[in-house]
Amino acid sequence: MKIFISADMEGVTGVVHRDQLMPEGKTYERARKLMTEDVNAVITGALREEPAAEFVVCDGHGVMRNLILEDLHEAAQLVIGPASPANKPLCQSQGCDETFDVAFFTGYHTRAGTENGLLSHTWVGSAITNIRVNGEIVGETALNAAVVGHWGIPVALVSGAHELEAEARATIPEGFVFVGTKQTYGFTAALCLPPAKTHKLLNEGAAEAVRRFKQGKLKAHKPKLPVTIGVEFHRREMAAKAAEVAGIEREDERSIAAKAETMKQAAEQAWKAVCRAQEEEPGWLK
Ligand SMILES: [Zn+2]
Repeated sequence: MKIFISADMEGVTGVVHRDQLMPEGKTYERARKLMTEDVNAVITGALREEPAAEFVVCDGHGVMRNLILEDLHEAAQLVIGPASPANKPLCQSQGCDETFDVAFFTGYHTRAGTENGLLSHTWVGSAITNIRVNGEIVGETALNAAVVGHWGIPVALVSGAHELEAEARATIPEGFVFVGTKQTYGFTAALCLPPAKTHKLLNEGAAEAVRRFKQGKLKAHKPKLPVTIGVEFHRREMAAKAAEVAGIEREDERSIAAKAETMKQAAEQAWKAVCRAQEEEPGWLK
C-alpha cells in the first residue's frame, strides 16, 4: 500500500501565528518539529493497520523545507524544495502519481475569506482573494483532493483546526477521517491540544483511515471535466501578469482562468499563473 501525504503547517499541533510559519520567526524551529511529529503520528498509525505501507510526504508549506528529514519516520520519503513551477508544478501535491492508494492531508487550514478562520488563506495569502473550481469557491483541501483525484486517489484523512472539518466535509466526498488539533478563536489564536494528545488522535485517525480505505468506503474527488480553475487576485496588476502565461484567460479585472482537459493540467497552469502574478518573486519561491 502506498500513501501520499501532503503536509501543510497552519493546522499543525500548537501552530497559531505567523511567527511560527517562516524561518525568520523566533518560534519557527519549534513549529517545524511539531509539524514533523504530526506527520510521524499519522505514519505510525497507518503502519499499525498496514505494516508494509510506503509513504511519500510532500512538504507543502511556504519555503517547503520545513519538515525535519532526520526526524522523519523511515517508512517515508520526503519531497523537499520550493514550489516554483519548474520545480514542483503540482505544488502541495508534488510527488503524487497513479501508484498511490490513498492521500492524507495534515496540518491543513481553512480557505481565504473564512470568517475568523485560523491563518486562513488559499495558496498565497498576499495575492489571492478566492480560488474556484468549476465556479465553486474552494480551499486547499478541495483543490488538492481534486489533484490527487486525477489519479482516482481518495483522501482518507484530513487534520487541522476543528473549523476545517466543515469546509472539508462540504467540498470533498464523505468517508474520510478528520482529526482536529485545536479550537479556533480567531486568525491568530486557538485553544490547542498538546502533542501528547494530538499524536494519539492522529495515530488513531490514520489507522481508522486505512481501515476505511480497505472497506471500500472512500471515493476520489473528481470535479467535472474539462475543468476550470478560476483565480481571483487582490489586485488588477496581479491578474494582468498572470494572464501572460500561455493558455491562461483573463476573466475580468482581477480574475483569470485555467481551463484544461484534466485537473492535473489545470492545477499546473493555475499555479504557474499565480507564481507569475507576484511581481517580485517571494523569498520562499527562490
Ligand atoms: Zn496552505
